[in-house]
Amino acid sequence: MRAVTYHGTGDMRVDTVPDPTIQHPRDAILKVSSTAICGSDLHIYDGFMPEMKTGDVIGHEFMGEIVETGPEVKGLSVGDRVVIPFNVTCGRCHFCERQLFSMCDNSNPDGEKLEKLYGQAGAGLFGYSHLFGGYDGGQAEYVRVPFADTGHLKVPSHISDDSLLFLTDIFPTGWQAALNADVTEGSTVAVWGAGPVGLFAIKSALLLGAETVYAIDTVPERLRLAEQAGAVAINSSEQKPYEALMEKTNERLPECVIDAVGLEAHGAGVLDTVYDKAKTVTFQETDRPHALREAILCTRKAGTVSLAGVYAGMVDKFPIGAAFGKALSFKMGQTHVLKHIPDLLRRIEEGQIDPSFLITHRGTLEDAPDMYKTFRDKTDDCIKCVMTP
Ligand code: NAD
Ligand code: ZN
Repeated sequence: MRAVTYHGTGDMRVDTVPDPTIQHPRDAILKVSSTAICGSDLHIYDGFMPEMKTGDVIGHEFMGEIVETGPEVKGLSVGDRVVIPFNVTCGRCHFCERQLFSMCDNSNPDGEKLEKLYGQAGAGLFGYSHLFGGYDGGQAEYVRVPFADTGHLKVPSHISDDSLLFLTDIFPTGWQAALNADVTEGSTVAVWGAGPVGLFAIKSALLLGAETVYAIDTVPERLRLAEQAGAVAINSSEQKPYEALMEKTNERLPECVIDAVGLEAHGAGVLDTVYDKAKTVTFQETDRPHALREAILCTRKAGTVSLAGVYAGMVDKFPIGAAFGKALSFKMGQTHVLKHIPDLLRRIEEGQIDPSFLITHRGTLEDAPDMYKTFRDKTDDCIKCVMTP
């Protein structure tokens, strides 16, 4: 089959690789109908993700049709149309039972590498490095889905792939970001990063009843889409977010703050690369301030900072004084996708939201190398790339 494969920093290719096979009785094989490139894939593309191997199949946002099931797979049949969450989850451990799916105990066979760094390891991930199980991803014609009996959401045939695909990751990620920020009726919210995750955080905050949502970015097309989604745009290359937010909120500042940027903003890498890079970046000196530091300084006293953007390793110069001094709360982590998607599917079915609004680029798997570059460089007004194998 054809699949998008990793060949080093900035080098994604389309290769012919062996078709996946059932390896465990709870596996299923999915024929991919649609797959997307995520901002998290850019951490791989940018060389921030260690333990990648040449030839690894990338991709964790995919859906399609079940074409084969292992003997222990119950409740899922050949021909079923499903969305697959980006986290690989066993569905039966202490954490899965509590719907803390991204913390699954049993789905990351490489977990001990992360335990050395973090003390404990979370779930495996599709198409994402040998720190997270080294599972082949879904930017491919077919993909093996481990624990497929519990790790899927069946979706109705009358809704298009475009409207369902983002249930795999970025819609629930934006949703969890808003919940983690304690957004409720009447909240004032600010979202750093108007990329796909930021745009879903904006939509989610408004669905949860936020009164005003500010969107901070520098890319005009993304800010335009944020405005269309109902946010007030702040272009941080034209206006300092702190000054803009003080003025717009009558000096109260937003109490719910979301970082939908992550590693990209400050150029600090992960794990072994982070120390060197972090040393060369001071928040005051960069012309584009570190999003998280800026977000903390812009949060109202007693407010909540929610990190949806991905961080890894050590990042220095965290303004702990401001966080303590203003009695801030922090929530973060990878999204517990399965926890949120039944509710989000219902909202799509009811017409509360159509997640396809941010698709700007389409192609086949063969277009992946070009699409990665366009999405990375944010050229051609690119917001989200979807491929049909
Ligand atoms: P993206 O790269 O397309 O978007 C990031 C946006 O942030 C861009 O529009 C960029 O211009 C903007 N930005 C960069 N630096 C900024 C700064 N200093 N101030 C304001 N804006 C700034 O990526 P995406 O797909 O939207 O993903 C965003 C983040 O969310 C990534 O780190 C990704 O890994 C992470 N993510 C997390 C989860 C999770 O489970 N928590 C899931 C999916 C994605
Ligand atoms: Zn993703």
